[in-house]
Amino acid sequence: MAASPPPIRLPAQLARYTCGRSLVCCQTPWGVYLDGDEPDTIARHLADVGGLAPADARRRVAAALERPGRGLLSLRRRDGGCALLEAHGPERGCSLQRAAGLGALPRTCQTFPRLVTRVGDLVEVAFLLDCPTVARHVVAARGGFAWAELPARDFPYPVGRVAAAAIAWTASRDVPRAELLAWRAAWWAALADAAEARALGPALAALLLRPEAPGARDDAPSALLAWSPAWGGPISDALRRLHASEADLPAPPPASALEEGPSEGALTATLAQNGGALALAASVLLQHAGVHDSRPALDAARGAAWQTLVAAALAARLTDAGLGVDDALVMALSTAAQVARTLPTSHRLGASF
Ligand code: SF4
Repeated sequence: MAASPPPIRLPAQLARYTCGRSLVCCQTPWGVYLDGDEPDTIARHLADVGGLAPADARRRVAAALERPGRGLLSLRRRDGGCALLEAHGPERGCSLQRAAGLGALPRTCQTFPRLVTRVGDLVEVAFLLDCPTVARHVVAARGGFAWAELPARDFPYPVGRVAAAAIAWTASRDVPRAELLAWRAAWWAALADAAEARALGPALAALLLRPEAPGARDDAPSALLAWSPAWGGPISDALRRLHASEADLPAPPPASALEEGPSEGALTATLAQNGGALALAASVLLQHAGVHDSRPALDAARGAAWQTLVAAALAARLTDAGLGVDDALVMALSTAAQVARTLPTSHRLGASF
């Protein structure tokens, strides 16, 4: 008898996530890279499910592809978005999915904003905060990071990665996976406790400076941020794209209003008053470390702390500019995720993550 498929474990606060059709993932700065077998798979779905003649299906796929570099294959872009995206009108959405279903999409598109990783006997799902729908769930949620389980039959998304039995802790040292998972759980508990005690800032400072020590607390998160005037442009661009994708999110302030970070008092107040949402955001990011992320775990943890501090600082600036708290948090979490992906490393503290 065939073994039953492993259960799916995912953050409880995101267990009800469904795509909100913001289409952020189909537009700049995202690009969709394909593995060599994917064009044939897409063409087969267009023929089998979409009803195209096989030759027409192959032609349609070929017209949507480009080769941006040696050995690279990606979906062509048009007007800042995927060539297969219909960005406006009643058919707004992915023309490929509409024609031939989820199975026709490239693997990246099928799973976004999920990262699906086999971890021992389970399949674990993590989420990307770039997606504003994920950010909304995090902002609306209460309580520390917790797990939910789904039967495999309710989860159609493919596994993209397998977590090894020994995981890179630093560039030169591995740890057993069980040790890594216990460290991650200890940080989740510490972040929830810190939020409860209105001490999330010191906990995030410690996650940035001493990620190997769950529960540590350090001072001065604002001093760690060193807000760069160069952030104003990329942050403002990401906010504008978000506002264009999500009509119910307010217009952001101009880039000139984002050249400076918040005062230390405003950042401290934002971290204290929104500790639950920000601690959960940091935990959702920390879930990636070593498991869903190929960087050494301590670097990924520092990145999670840095990204959450940037989000807190941006939320403080947006509320200063008159946005409501929940909208500011959603926009800040999603924007910080996009900016963390694109800002040159030299603009980040420590330059090592
Ligand atoms: S293939 Fe579809 S889902 Fe993927 S980026 Fe293009 S429009 Fe979006």
